[in-house]
Amino acid sequence: MALEVGAQLVNGDLCLGPEIRFVAPPRRRLLAALPPWRPLARMMSWVATRLPAAWLRPVILAFLTTYLAPSPRLLAEGAILVNREGKRFVNELQQPALAIPHQPQGEAFFVFDHPVAQRFTAWPYFISTAPGIAYAFLPDYRRNRRDIYAEAPTLAGLAHALGLPAAALEATVAAYNQAVRQGQDPAFGRTPLGAGLTVPPFYALGPARSWIVITDGGLAVTPRLEVLDRQGRVIPGLYAAGSTGQGGVLLEAHGLHLLWAFTSGRLAGRHAAGG
Ligand SMILES: Cc1cc2nc3c(=O)[nH]c(=O)nc-3n(C[C@H](O)[C@H](O)[C@H](O)COP(=O)(O)OP(=O)(O)OC[C@H]3O[C@@H](n4cnc5c(N)ncnc54)[C@H](O)[C@@H]3O)c2cc1C
Repeated sequence: MALEVGAQLVNGDLCLGPEIRFVAPPRRRLLAALPPWRPLARMMSWVATRLPAAWLRPVILAFLTTYLAPSPRLLAEGAILVNREGKRFVNELQQPALAIPHQPQGEAFFVFDHPVAQRFTAWPYFISTAPGIAYAFLPDYRRNRRDIYAEAPTLAGLAHALGLPAAALEATVAAYNQAVRQGQDPAFGRTPLGAGLTVPPFYALGPARSWIVITDGGLAVTPRLEVLDRQGRVIPGLYAAGSTGQGGVLLEAHGLHLLWAFTSGRLAGRHAAGG
């Protein structure tokens, strides 16, 4: 819309990803469904600043632990990736995020056995970073994200829990364990292969998808968030915020994009309203 009225785009070619992230919880949380009404926001702000931190934390945590990013270390330590057909589809150690969108429903599951699961219960073997927890380990997922956590004494039981074809998952793991024994992975050329998936119980995390997480392209803006045209002149009455109004700023760190969205949105709104 802005380009049509002559706005100037900066860094339109920059993005971060694709990156593997677990899907968000299926249920829309009450907090996310609330309308953005000013009296309601005021009340929430009043409550948030007075509620004891211990009470507030679970609410905030439930709201924020959504699209968590699994550490590549889970794969390096021996987990495999399977698709909804119960089949491996990629060398898990070579940019698997590029292959996931081509799988059925664009989804994949991390599958591993007990020794790997044991390792990912304590530092430095975290599954993901998580707001409020800082690092989330397998027991955190068991507690907080039952929707993407599965555990079973057999591979068939695991497949059942995930809704995958059991025979296919068993065949996939058998072929992988055979590759481990032979020291080479004819299907996908993974190396190193790890110890194989041999010790029950078996575990899975997923579905996970691939996302372009951040785009650093946006419209050129003034410090008042007014949009600039290709000659660097203000387009009267047009303001931009968040990703759209990023104006060439590169925000390479945790949380900066969200912070920019909140701050620039508030400032742009204030300026647009004549403040
Ligand atoms: C999976 C994922 C993980 C991320 N993790 C992080 C993180 O950990 N930390 C971080 O800082 N950033 C993170 N980001 C980036 C961050 O979410 C974005 O930079 C930020 O949300 C941008 O905010 P925004 O308000 O500019 O745009 P958006 O949040 O995209 O909001 C734009 C809104 O406009 C609505 N909209 C679009 N078109 C129209 C229309 N025509 N009419 C009306 N409404 C419309 C959309 O529905 C949307 O609600 C993540 C992004 C993704 C996808």
